[in-house]
Amino acid sequence: MSVHVIGAGLAGLAAACQLTESGHHVVLFEASKTAGGRARSHFDNVLGCRIDNGNHLLLSGNISTLSYLHRVGAKRSLTGPAEPVFPFCDLRTGENWTLRLNHTGFPWWIFSPKRRVPGTGLRHYVAMLKLKKAKSTDLVAPLLAGAGPLYSGLLELLAVSSLNTTPDIASAALLRSVFAETLDRGGYATIPRYARVGLSETFIDPALEWLRERGADIRLGERVTEINPAQATILAVPPWIASELVPDLMVPNEFESIYNLHFKYSLDPGEAGFWGFLGGMTEWVFAHKDVLSVTISAANRYAGMSPADIAAKVWSELATAFSLPPEIPVHRVVWEKRATIIATPAQLARRPKTRTHNPNLMLAGDWTDTGLPATIEGAIRSGNSAALALMSSLED
Ligand SMILES: Cc1cc2nc3c(=O)[nH]c(=O)nc-3n(C[C@H](O)[C@H](O)[C@H](O)COP(=O)(O)OP(=O)(O)OC[C@H]3O[C@@H](n4cnc5c(N)ncnc54)[C@H](O)[C@@H]3O)c2cc1C
Repeated sequence: MSVHVIGAGLAGLAAACQLTESGHHVVLFEASKTAGGRARSHFDNVLGCRIDNGNHLLLSGNISTLSYLHRVGAKRSLTGPAEPVFPFCDLRTGENWTLRLNHTGFPWWIFSPKRRVPGTGLRHYVAMLKLKKAKSTDLVAPLLAGAGPLYSGLLELLAVSSLNTTPDIASAALLRSVFAETLDRGGYATIPRYARVGLSETFIDPALEWLRERGADIRLGERVTEINPAQATILAVPPWIASELVPDLMVPNEFESIYNLHFKYSLDPGEAGFWGFLGGMTEWVFAHKDVLSVTISAANRYAGMSPADIAAKVWSELATAFSLPPEIPVHRVVWEKRATIIATPAQLARRPKTRTHNPNLMLAGDWTDTGLPATIEGAIRSGNSAALALMSSLED
Protein backbone atom coordinates (compact mmCIF):
# COMPACT_ATOMS: atom_id res chain seq x y z
CA MET A 1 0.00 0.00 0.00
CA SER A 2 1.16 3.55 -0.73
CA VAL A 3 2.02 5.80 2.17
CA HIS A 4 2.12 9.57 1.84
CA VAL A 5 4.91 11.40 3.62
CA ILE A 6 4.42 15.16 3.72
CA GLY A 7 7.61 17.19 4.14
CA ALA A 8 11.10 16.23 2.95
CA GLY A 9 13.09 17.56 5.86
CA LEU A 10 15.08 15.05 7.87
CA ALA A 11 12.02 13.75 9.72
CA GLY A 12 10.14 13.06 6.48
CA LEU A 13 13.18 11.55 4.78
CA ALA A 14 13.87 9.25 7.73
CA ALA A 15 10.22 8.13 7.74
CA ALA A 16 10.26 7.59 3.98
CA CYS A 17 13.44 5.45 4.21
CA GLN A 18 12.07 3.36 7.07
CA LEU A 19 8.80 2.72 5.21
CA THR A 20 10.56 1.95 1.93
CA GLU A 21 12.91 -0.51 3.58
CA SER A 22 9.87 -2.26 5.06
CA GLY A 23 8.37 -2.71 1.60
CA HIS A 24 5.91 0.17 1.41
CA HIS A 25 5.54 2.40 -1.62
CA VAL A 26 6.17 5.97 -0.52
CA VAL A 27 4.93 9.17 -2.10
CA LEU A 28 6.97 12.02 -0.62
CA PHE A 29 5.56 15.55 -0.98
CA GLU A 30 7.76 18.59 -0.46
CA ALA A 31 6.48 22.15 -0.82
CA SER A 32 9.88 23.55 -1.71
CA LYS A 33 11.68 22.79 -4.98
CA THR A 34 14.54 21.37 -2.92
CA ALA A 35 14.42 18.87 -0.10
CA GLY A 36 16.13 19.27 3.27
CA GLY A 37 14.01 21.83 5.09
CA ARG A 38 16.15 23.41 7.80
CA ALA A 39 19.25 21.36 6.93
CA ARG A 40 20.21 22.20 3.40
CA SER A 41 23.00 23.59 1.20
CA HIS A 42 22.76 26.11 -1.61
CA PHE A 43 24.97 28.16 -3.93
CA ASP A 44 25.52 31.63 -2.56
CA ASN A 45 26.02 34.37 -5.16
CA VAL A 46 27.81 36.77 -2.82
CA LEU A 47 30.35 34.23 -1.60
CA GLY A 48 30.60 32.47 -4.97
CA CYS A 49 30.39 28.99 -3.45
CA ARG A 50 27.99 26.51 -1.87
CA ILE A 51 27.19 26.98 1.80
CA ASP A 52 24.94 25.32 4.36
CA ASN A 53 22.03 27.30 5.79
CA GLY A 54 23.82 26.82 9.11
CA ASN A 55 26.58 24.81 10.74
CA HIS A 56 25.22 21.54 12.09
CA LEU A 57 27.22 19.72 14.72
CA LEU A 58 26.49 16.12 15.64
CA LEU A 59 28.04 13.83 18.22
CA SER A 60 28.96 10.18 17.83
CA GLY A 61 26.23 9.34 20.37
CA ASN A 62 23.56 10.44 17.87
CA ILE A 63 22.86 6.85 16.95
CA SER A 64 19.62 7.34 15.02
CA THR A 65 21.41 9.81 12.76
CA LEU A 66 24.34 7.48 12.20
CA SER A 67 21.97 4.58 11.39
CA TYR A 68 20.08 6.78 8.93
CA LEU A 69 23.33 7.74 7.19
CA HIS A 70 24.46 4.12 7.19
CA ARG A 71 21.16 3.07 5.60
CA VAL A 72 21.48 5.57 2.74
CA GLY A 73 25.22 4.93 2.30
CA ALA A 74 26.39 8.35 3.48
CA LYS A 75 28.03 7.61 6.83
CA ARG A 76 31.50 8.26 5.41
CA SER A 77 30.47 11.73 4.32
CA LEU A 78 30.74 12.85 7.93
CA THR A 79 34.03 14.13 9.20
CA GLY A 80 35.55 15.58 12.36
CA PRO A 81 38.34 14.86 14.79
CA ALA A 82 39.17 11.24 15.61
CA GLU A 83 39.08 11.99 19.33
CA PRO A 84 36.48 13.60 21.63
CA VAL A 85 38.14 17.02 21.58
CA PHE A 86 36.63 20.49 21.69
CA PRO A 87 38.98 23.47 21.16
CA PHE A 88 37.87 26.75 22.76
CA CYS A 89 38.83 30.42 22.42
CA ASP A 90 38.04 32.43 25.54
CA LEU A 91 37.62 36.07 24.57
CA ARG A 92 37.51 37.09 28.26
CA THR A 93 41.01 35.82 29.03
CA GLY A 94 42.54 35.51 25.56
CA GLU A 95 43.26 31.88 26.42
CA ASN A 96 42.95 29.05 23.89
CA TRP A 97 42.41 25.63 25.42
CA THR A 98 41.04 22.23 24.46
CA LEU A 99 38.59 20.02 26.30
CA ARG A 100 39.87 16.46 25.94
CA LEU A 101 37.43 13.80 27.06
CA ASN A 102 38.52 10.19 27.50
CA HIS A 103 36.80 7.47 25.51
CA THR A 104 35.49 5.31 28.33
CA GLY A 105 32.39 5.84 30.46
CA PHE A 106 34.30 6.89 33.58
CA PRO A 107 35.22 10.59 33.13
CA TRP A 108 38.81 10.57 34.33
CA TRP A 109 39.44 13.68 32.20
CA ILE A 110 37.91 15.76 34.98
CA PHE A 111 40.91 14.87 37.20
CA SER A 112 43.39 16.26 34.66
CA PRO A 113 43.91 20.06 34.58
CA LYS A 114 45.25 19.67 31.04
CA ARG A 115 42.03 18.07 29.83
CA ARG A 116 39.26 19.76 31.81
CA VAL A 117 37.85 23.31 31.68
CA PRO A 118 40.45 25.83 32.97
CA GLY A 119 39.82 27.07 36.52
CA THR A 120 37.54 24.16 37.44
CA GLY A 121 37.94 21.68 40.27
CA LEU A 122 36.21 18.47 41.22
CA ARG A 123 33.46 20.28 43.17
CA HIS A 124 32.25 22.00 40.01
CA TYR A 125 31.76 18.66 38.27
CA VAL A 126 29.98 17.32 41.35
CA ALA A 127 27.61 20.34 41.15
CA MET A 128 26.75 19.23 37.63
CA LEU A 129 25.22 16.03 39.02
CA LYS A 130 22.15 18.07 39.97
CA LEU A 131 21.17 17.82 36.34
CA LYS A 132 20.53 14.09 36.73
CA LYS A 133 17.62 14.82 39.08
CA ALA A 134 16.20 17.73 37.05
CA LYS A 135 12.42 17.96 37.17
CA SER A 136 10.36 18.98 34.15
CA THR A 137 9.97 22.51 35.57
CA ASP A 138 13.67 23.07 36.40
CA LEU A 139 15.63 25.60 34.37
CA VAL A 140 19.25 25.19 33.30
CA ALA A 141 20.86 28.36 34.72
CA PRO A 142 19.54 28.24 38.30
CA LEU A 143 20.09 24.47 38.53
CA LEU A 144 23.70 24.63 37.38
CA ALA A 145 24.72 27.91 39.04
CA GLY A 146 26.88 25.98 41.55
CA ALA A 147 29.08 24.71 38.72
CA GLY A 148 30.77 28.18 38.59
CA PRO A 149 33.59 28.22 36.01
CA LEU A 150 32.40 24.90 34.58
CA TYR A 151 29.07 26.58 33.84
CA SER A 152 30.51 29.78 32.34
CA GLY A 153 33.34 27.90 30.59
CA LEU A 154 31.35 25.05 29.02
CA LEU A 155 27.85 24.17 30.21
CA GLU A 156 26.29 27.52 29.33
CA LEU A 157 27.53 27.25 25.73
CA LEU A 158 26.51 23.59 25.43
CA ALA A 159 23.05 24.41 26.79
CA VAL A 160 22.35 27.38 24.54
CA SER A 161 23.57 25.59 21.43
CA SER A 162 21.96 22.21 22.02
CA LEU A 163 18.61 23.63 23.23
CA ASN A 164 18.65 26.83 21.12
CA THR A 165 17.26 28.62 24.15
CA THR A 166 18.94 30.88 26.70
CA PRO A 167 19.72 28.86 29.86
CA ASP A 168 17.72 31.18 32.14
CA ILE A 169 14.50 29.87 30.58
CA ALA A 170 15.62 26.53 29.07
CA SER A 171 14.47 23.16 30.39
CA ALA A 172 17.13 21.43 32.49
CA ALA A 173 15.42 18.06 31.96
CA LEU A 174 15.91 18.42 28.21
CA LEU A 175 19.59 19.18 28.65
CA ARG A 176 19.83 16.08 30.83
CA SER A 177 18.44 14.00 27.97
CA VAL A 178 21.16 15.37 25.65
CA PHE A 179 23.91 14.54 28.13
CA ALA A 180 22.42 11.10 28.84
CA GLU A 181 23.08 10.06 25.23
CA THR A 182 26.49 11.71 24.89
CA LEU A 183 28.67 13.08 27.73
CA ASP A 184 27.33 10.66 30.34
CA ARG A 185 28.21 7.70 28.11
CA GLY A 186 31.79 8.89 27.75
CA GLY A 187 34.02 10.32 25.08
CA TYR A 188 33.25 7.57 22.59
CA ALA A 189 29.68 8.97 22.38
CA THR A 190 30.87 12.59 22.31
CA ILE A 191 33.15 12.72 19.27
CA PRO A 192 32.20 15.75 17.17
CA ARG A 193 30.90 15.05 13.68
CA TYR A 194 29.82 17.31 10.82
CA ALA A 195 29.23 17.14 7.08
CA ARG A 196 32.47 16.93 5.09
CA VAL A 197 31.15 18.75 2.01
CA GLY A 198 27.73 20.09 2.90
CA LEU A 199 24.43 19.25 4.61
CA SER A 200 22.67 18.35 1.36
CA GLU A 201 25.55 16.15 0.22
CA THR A 202 25.47 14.21 3.50
CA PHE A 203 21.90 14.18 4.75
CA ILE A 204 19.61 14.90 1.83
CA ASP A 205 20.88 13.94 -1.63
CA PRO A 206 21.96 10.36 -0.71
CA ALA A 207 18.56 9.73 0.89
CA LEU A 208 16.68 11.03 -2.17
CA GLU A 209 18.80 8.83 -4.43
CA TRP A 210 18.33 5.81 -2.16
CA LEU A 211 14.56 6.35 -2.18
CA ARG A 212 14.36 6.87 -5.94
CA GLU A 213 16.37 3.70 -6.59
CA ARG A 214 13.79 1.79 -4.56
CA GLY A 215 10.80 3.19 -6.43
CA ALA A 216 9.65 6.01 -4.13
CA ASP A 217 7.72 8.77 -5.84
CA ILE A 218 9.35 12.07 -4.82
CA ARG A 219 7.34 15.16 -5.60
CA LEU A 220 9.33 18.33 -5.02
CA GLY A 221 7.52 21.66 -5.30
CA GLU A 222 4.16 20.10 -4.32
CA ARG A 223 2.62 21.77 -1.30
CA VAL A 224 -0.05 19.68 0.44
CA THR A 225 -3.05 21.76 1.46
CA GLU A 226 -5.32 19.12 2.95
CA ILE A 227 -5.10 15.62 4.36
CA ASN A 228 -7.27 12.75 3.22
CA PRO A 229 -8.18 10.99 6.50
CA ALA A 230 -8.48 7.61 4.72
CA GLN A 231 -4.94 7.79 3.29
CA ALA A 232 -2.04 6.41 5.36
CA THR A 233 0.01 9.54 5.99
CA ILE A 234 3.00 10.82 7.91
CA LEU A 235 2.90 14.55 8.44
CA ALA A 236 6.46 15.84 8.78
CA VAL A 237 6.00 19.58 8.34
CA PRO A 238 6.80 22.43 10.76
CA PRO A 239 4.38 22.82 13.69
CA TRP A 240 2.56 25.90 12.40
CA ILE A 241 1.72 24.04 9.15
CA ALA A 242 0.73 20.87 11.03
CA SER A 243 -1.78 22.83 13.12
CA GLU A 244 -3.34 24.24 9.94
CA LEU A 245 -3.68 20.76 8.40
CA VAL A 246 -4.86 18.93 11.53
CA PRO A 247 -7.68 20.70 13.37
CA ASP A 248 -7.40 20.86 17.18
CA LEU A 249 -3.75 19.77 17.20
CA MET A 250 -1.83 21.41 20.02
CA VAL A 251 1.72 22.29 18.95
CA PRO A 252 4.59 24.40 20.29
CA ASN A 253 4.00 27.97 19.16
CA GLU A 254 7.06 29.91 20.31
CA PHE A 255 10.31 29.81 18.38
CA GLU A 256 13.95 30.79 18.62
CA SER A 257 16.16 32.03 15.82
CA ILE A 258 19.73 31.18 14.83
CA TYR A 259 22.23 33.49 13.15
CA ASN A 260 24.81 32.02 10.81
CA LEU A 261 27.51 34.24 9.40
CA HIS A 262 29.65 33.04 6.53
CA PHE A 263 32.89 34.93 5.88
CA LYS A 264 34.95 34.29 2.73
CA TYR A 265 38.18 33.49 4.50
CA SER A 266 40.45 30.48 4.57
CA LEU A 267 41.75 29.44 7.97
CA ASP A 268 43.73 26.40 9.05
CA PRO A 269 41.04 24.10 10.52
CA GLY A 270 43.30 23.01 13.35
CA GLU A 271 42.76 19.79 15.24
CA ALA A 272 38.97 19.67 15.12
CA GLY A 273 37.84 21.93 12.25
CA PHE A 274 35.83 24.11 14.62
CA TRP A 275 36.14 26.10 17.85
CA GLY A 276 33.77 27.01 20.66
CA PHE A 277 33.91 30.68 21.67
CA LEU A 278 33.39 32.01 25.19
CA GLY A 279 32.66 35.53 26.40
CA GLY A 280 31.45 37.09 23.15
CA MET A 281 28.61 36.97 20.65
CA THR A 282 30.30 34.26 18.56
CA GLU A 283 29.49 30.73 19.78
CA TRP A 284 30.85 28.18 17.28
CA VAL A 285 33.19 28.74 14.35
CA PHE A 286 33.70 26.20 11.57
CA ALA A 287 36.65 26.45 9.18
CA HIS A 288 35.31 25.20 5.85
CA LYS A 289 37.48 25.08 2.72
CA ASP A 290 37.41 28.82 2.02
CA VAL A 291 34.64 30.00 4.32
CA LEU A 292 34.63 30.68 8.06
CA SER A 293 31.11 30.03 9.36
CA VAL A 294 29.88 31.25 12.71
CA THR A 295 26.79 30.10 14.59
CA ILE A 296 24.92 32.12 17.20
CA SER A 297 22.03 30.26 18.82
CA ALA A 298 19.01 31.64 20.71
CA ALA A 299 19.44 34.76 18.60
CA ASN A 300 16.10 36.42 19.42
CA ARG A 301 18.10 38.34 22.03
CA TYR A 302 19.92 40.11 19.20
CA ALA A 303 16.78 41.07 17.25
CA GLY A 304 17.49 44.76 17.90
CA MET A 305 20.87 44.64 16.13
CA SER A 306 21.26 44.99 12.39
CA PRO A 307 22.89 42.11 10.47
CA ALA A 308 25.71 44.52 9.53
CA ASP A 309 26.41 45.32 13.19
CA ILE A 310 26.33 41.63 14.08
CA ALA A 311 28.77 40.82 11.26
CA ALA A 312 31.12 43.62 12.39
CA LYS A 313 31.04 42.47 16.02
CA VAL A 314 31.57 38.81 15.15
CA TRP A 315 34.41 39.56 12.74
CA SER A 316 36.15 41.66 15.40
CA GLU A 317 35.92 38.66 17.76
CA LEU A 318 37.37 36.32 15.12
CA ALA A 319 40.09 38.83 14.27
CA THR A 320 41.06 39.02 17.96
CA ALA A 321 41.00 35.28 18.54
CA PHE A 322 42.84 34.24 15.38
CA SER A 323 44.94 37.39 14.74
CA LEU A 324 43.15 38.10 11.45
CA PRO A 325 43.09 41.39 9.50
CA PRO A 326 40.52 43.85 10.92
CA GLU A 327 38.86 44.46 7.52
CA ILE A 328 35.71 42.39 7.29
CA PRO A 329 35.83 40.05 4.26
CA VAL A 330 32.99 39.34 1.84
CA HIS A 331 30.27 37.73 3.91
CA ARG A 332 26.69 36.49 4.06
CA VAL A 333 24.48 36.71 7.14
CA VAL A 334 21.64 34.15 7.40
CA TRP A 335 19.02 34.67 10.09
CA GLU A 336 16.74 31.63 10.44
CA LYS A 337 13.88 33.24 12.34
CA ARG A 338 11.99 30.10 13.27
CA ALA A 339 15.05 27.86 13.50
CA THR A 340 13.58 25.66 16.26
CA ILE A 341 10.92 25.64 18.94
CA ILE A 342 11.96 27.36 22.14
CA ALA A 343 12.83 24.75 24.79
CA THR A 344 11.01 26.16 27.80
CA PRO A 345 9.08 23.75 30.04
CA ALA A 346 5.80 25.36 28.93
CA GLN A 347 6.54 24.88 25.22
CA LEU A 348 7.83 21.34 25.71
CA ALA A 349 4.50 20.47 27.34
CA ARG A 350 2.83 21.37 24.02
CA ARG A 351 4.81 18.79 22.01
CA PRO A 352 2.39 16.19 20.56
CA LYS A 353 3.00 12.44 20.47
CA THR A 354 3.53 10.56 17.21
CA ARG A 355 0.01 9.10 17.08
CA THR A 356 -3.00 11.30 16.35
CA HIS A 357 -6.70 10.56 16.90
CA ASN A 358 -6.69 9.15 13.32
CA PRO A 359 -4.94 5.74 13.07
CA ASN A 360 -3.97 6.59 9.46
CA LEU A 361 -2.14 9.76 10.43
CA MET A 362 1.19 10.01 12.33
CA LEU A 363 3.22 13.08 13.19
CA ALA A 364 6.96 13.56 12.76
CA GLY A 365 9.30 16.50 13.17
CA ASP A 366 11.89 17.78 15.62
CA TRP A 367 9.09 19.63 17.43
CA THR A 368 7.14 16.45 18.34
CA ASP A 369 7.59 14.77 21.71
CA THR A 370 10.89 13.02 21.02
CA GLY A 371 12.39 13.61 24.47
CA LEU A 372 15.26 15.38 22.69
CA PRO A 373 15.77 19.00 21.67
CA ALA A 374 14.89 20.14 18.15
CA THR A 375 17.93 18.61 16.47
CA ILE A 376 18.82 16.31 13.61
CA GLU A 377 18.82 13.36 16.00
CA GLY A 378 15.34 14.27 17.26
CA ALA A 379 14.01 14.82 13.73
CA ILE A 380 15.32 11.47 12.45
CA ARG A 381 14.12 9.62 15.51
CA SER A 382 10.66 11.16 15.11
CA GLY A 383 10.54 10.02 11.48
CA ASN A 384 11.53 6.47 12.42
CA SER A 385 8.93 6.38 15.20
CA ALA A 386 6.18 7.68 12.94
CA ALA A 387 6.96 5.06 10.30
CA LEU A 388 6.95 2.22 12.84
CA ALA A 389 3.73 3.47 14.45
CA LEU A 390 2.00 3.76 11.08
CA MET A 391 3.09 0.28 10.00
CA SER A 392 1.80 -1.22 13.23
CA SER A 393 -1.46 0.69 12.85
CA LEU A 394 -1.87 -0.59 9.27
CA GLU A 395 -1.37 -4.16 10.46
CA ASP A 396 -4.15 -3.87 13.09
C1 LIG B 1 20.60 27.39 11.44
C2 LIG B 1 20.31 26.06 12.09
C3 LIG B 1 21.32 25.39 12.75
C4 LIG B 1 21.07 24.14 13.34
N1 LIG B 1 22.08 23.48 13.95
C5 LIG B 1 21.89 22.20 14.36
C6 LIG B 1 22.97 21.45 14.87
O1 LIG B 1 24.09 21.93 15.00
N2 LIG B 1 22.74 20.14 15.23
C7 LIG B 1 21.51 19.58 15.11
O2 LIG B 1 21.37 18.39 15.41
N3 LIG B 1 20.44 20.30 14.65
C8 LIG B 1 20.61 21.58 14.28
N4 LIG B 1 19.55 22.30 13.77
C9 LIG B 1 18.21 21.71 13.79
C10 LIG B 1 17.94 20.79 12.58
O3 LIG B 1 18.24 21.46 11.38
C11 LIG B 1 16.45 20.46 12.60
O4 LIG B 1 16.13 19.87 13.83
C12 LIG B 1 16.02 19.50 11.49
O5 LIG B 1 16.56 19.88 10.25
C13 LIG B 1 14.49 19.51 11.45
O6 LIG B 1 14.02 18.60 10.50
P1 LIG B 1 12.45 18.37 10.33
O7 LIG B 1 12.27 17.40 9.25
O8 LIG B 1 11.84 18.11 11.65
O9 LIG B 1 11.84 19.80 9.89
P2 LIG B 1 12.07 20.68 8.57
O10 LIG B 1 13.50 20.63 8.18
O11 LIG B 1 11.48 22.02 8.87
O12 LIG B 1 11.24 19.94 7.43
C14 LIG B 1 9.88 20.20 7.16
C15 LIG B 1 9.68 20.15 5.66
O13 LIG B 1 8.27 20.25 5.38
C16 LIG B 1 8.12 21.03 4.21
N5 LIG B 1 6.74 21.52 4.14
C17 LIG B 1 6.18 22.51 4.88
N6 LIG B 1 4.87 22.63 4.56
C18 LIG B 1 4.60 21.69 3.62
C19 LIG B 1 3.41 21.31 2.92
N7 LIG B 1 2.24 21.91 3.14
N8 LIG B 1 3.50 20.32 2.00
C20 LIG B 1 4.69 19.69 1.78
N9 LIG B 1 5.84 20.01 2.42
C21 LIG B 1 5.78 20.98 3.35
C22 LIG B 1 9.17 22.12 4.38
O14 LIG B 1 9.45 22.79 3.17
C23 LIG B 1 10.34 21.33 4.94
O15 LIG B 1 11.18 20.84 3.91
C24 LIG B 1 19.76 23.58 13.24
C25 LIG B 1 18.74 24.27 12.59
C26 LIG B 1 19.00 25.49 12.01
C27 LIG B 1 17.89 26.22 11.30
